[in-house]
Amino acid sequence: MTETFEALLIRAKDNPKASLAELSLSDLPDLPVLVRVDYSSLNYKDGLSVTGKGRIARRFPMVPGIDIAGTVVESASEAFKPGDRVIANGNGMSETEWGAYSAYQRVRPEWLMPQPEGLTQKQAMAIGTAGYTAALCVNQLLAWGSLSTEDGKVLVTGAAGGVGSYAVALLASLGFSVTASTGRPETHDYLRQLGASDFIDRRELSEAGKPLQAERWTGAVDSVGSTTLANVLAQTVYGGAVTACGLAGGPDLPATVMPHILRSVALIGVDSVMAPKKRREAAWRLLQTQLSSEQIALATEGEVALKDLPQAAEDILAGKVRGRIVVKVS
Ligand code: NDP
Repeated sequence: MTETFEALLIRAKDNPKASLAELSLSDLPDLPVLVRVDYSSLNYKDGLSVTGKGRIARRFPMVPGIDIAGTVVESASEAFKPGDRVIANGNGMSETEWGAYSAYQRVRPEWLMPQPEGLTQKQAMAIGTAGYTAALCVNQLLAWGSLSTEDGKVLVTGAAGGVGSYAVALLASLGFSVTASTGRPETHDYLRQLGASDFIDRRELSEAGKPLQAERWTGAVDSVGSTTLANVLAQTVYGGAVTACGLAGGPDLPATVMPHILRSVALIGVDSVMAPKKRREAAWRLLQTQLSSEQIALATEGEVALKDLPQAAEDILAGKVRGRIVVKVS
């Protein structure tokens, strides 16, 4: 093990842009499991942390990065031993807990899951929080029971982004007819290869519409929020459900209760950060069983090193990243 190693560090509240730093093991938090971080991923939330444009960190200094695929080096927990391959998603990393963008990190055993069987570390991080959140959403829609492979369409908004790409792939693999809403027509071929069968321009959903509109969707995965989510709710069929997990278009929700009280439409909120273990495991099982390696490869736009993350973070916030970028940490 080298004495010092590379990390990305947000130094202080009034200096919130992350930059490269040399850390040593004694700088890391005093937590039970030391992990060598092999791979991570770049999510929208990571873009907000690394650029300092979103107030994600609530403790300083902070190592950002919400996804870890790593190898246990030392463990004071009986649940893990040196050499175990593990993953972690969320759990306050980047907010109050130091996260993935450090060649070594100390974490709590409760945050760790064994690396999902059948997936490489790189694949697990190409999926990362984006895929895991998409899977949480899809499991909620399946539990609601309004989707049908026989008739009706399911909508995915922000389709060419990370959550959107994996929602399209999972829903299509399960046999549903998927409509992808995107503002990037150049991604239609990509989304078709992932499994989308129809497309709408995201502008169709971004302008304020009537409280009740023509019924189009048996269910939806929305990572955009704001007017888009309000329109999606207004276009959902009687008894359908919409999962809301993101705010790429804004955190507001300019909607009425009409779809809920006249069409029994459900709005299901999905959080990945503090999701209970059973839901996490079910989500990763869905990803393991439904995603093909071709779909994962398609959704992986590229791989960057820690030093390239500040630029990649700007790119994801500017909506320039398709699918997911993997981060090679050590
Ligand atoms: P990405 O940046 O990869 O994808 C977001 C997509 O949203 C973009 O690719 C774009 O899709 C669309 N979009 C961006 N800006 C706008 C806009 N102004 N109006 C309409 N659509 C827009 O982000 P992620 O997939 O990583 O995350 C998506 C959202 O989900 C984020 O808000 C993130 O914070 C949230 N999230 C929440 C989680 C939770 O636990 N609840 C977990 C993971 C993510 P296109 O180019 O196709 O139009």
